[in-house]
Amino acid sequence: MSRQTQAIIHADALLHNFKALAALAPSSQSMAVVKADAYGHGAVNVARILQHVSSRFAVAIIEEAIALRDAGISAPIVVLEGAHQAKECQMAFQHNCILVMHCEEQLTWLESCPEQQRPHIWLKVDSGMHRLGFALSDIEGITAKYNHLLSEQTVIATHFACADDVDNNFTNTQIDAFNQVASKLDLPTSVANSPATVNWPASRNAWNRLGVGVYGGAVSTSQNLDIEIYPAMTLRSSVLAVRTIPAGEGIGYGQTWVASKPSKIATVGIGYADGYPRHCKNGTPVLIRGKRAYLVGRVSMDMITIDVTHIDNVAVGDEVELWGQNVPIQEVAANADTIDYELMTRVSQRVPRIVK
Ligand code: PLP
Repeated sequence: MSRQTQAIIHADALLHNFKALAALAPSSQSMAVVKADAYGHGAVNVARILQHVSSRFAVAIIEEAIALRDAGISAPIVVLEGAHQAKECQMAFQHNCILVMHCEEQLTWLESCPEQQRPHIWLKVDSGMHRLGFALSDIEGITAKYNHLLSEQTVIATHFACADDVDNNFTNTQIDAFNQVASKLDLPTSVANSPATVNWPASRNAWNRLGVGVYGGAVSTSQNLDIEIYPAMTLRSSVLAVRTIPAGEGIGYGQTWVASKPSKIATVGIGYADGYPRHCKNGTPVLIRGKRAYLVGRVSMDMITIDVTHIDNVAVGDEVELWGQNVPIQEVAANADTIDYELMTRVSQRVPRIVK
């Protein structure tokens, strides 16, 4: 039997989620963020699915953009980290990419490109996240000094620290600080990621950069959203073995779970080498035969063990949903003390992505 561990990528969910998020901001343009292999969903496949609704794409690094070009994706691509070295400016020009520049050194690299071979750029400002970006107080001076590098495509951008949290007013603080400076510059702006697009209408600007929401991830601490978004990935595997163990026996490495009564245990063919988090606690849910069942014992490299005592007729070959429509990825993430972004991006190359 060939291994049944697969990530099913739902094209209809990707399209629905993108369109629903974009529709929240009809006066903006929206681009899908497909960095990190489209959050683990497969960047080329996702770009092919979304290319008729997303007029641009965003990636983190130039290599990700070139991989899309090699696959025939022709939409402009925004490279969110800009250039890491001078030669990436040339590469960006050749591949029709827009570099998001965040420091003066990058602008000097751009200056050293022949004038006719400079890529378009965006300028990133630090409105409070303190990760990348020009200081708010410097950006006016920077745009004046490097005016010759700007073009009709130049956008002033920033990024939020807490946009998913509807109770955290820091997003308003960032919006206000950014707007104060941006209003002095005659340039379009890009501020919102997918959580901000959902939660903070004032952040919807010329370009919204939609990431996790497109994949069906959590975009808000609010329970009442105006839109529905659906999981774009189902991670599934199958039962490799079923055994009954007596009370008092431990399961797996370190015997971190010991049966309190005779228990039926299904061994499932997925492990941390596939990206199923090793830190998942006993009690993390999966779905087998339409019923929830729970992880017992440690996650191994290639296998996990599930208590299926309460489910009749579990057999070798039965399909198991690790996350997807029935088992929210956020619930699995919480059991591993992490977030859905990490789970999505860590599904390993050993797991085939099957687009449906
Ligand atoms: N913009 C930038 C600069 C980012 O780094 C990211 C993702 O981390 C996004 C947009 C998309 O954010 P999200 O996935 O929260 O929608």
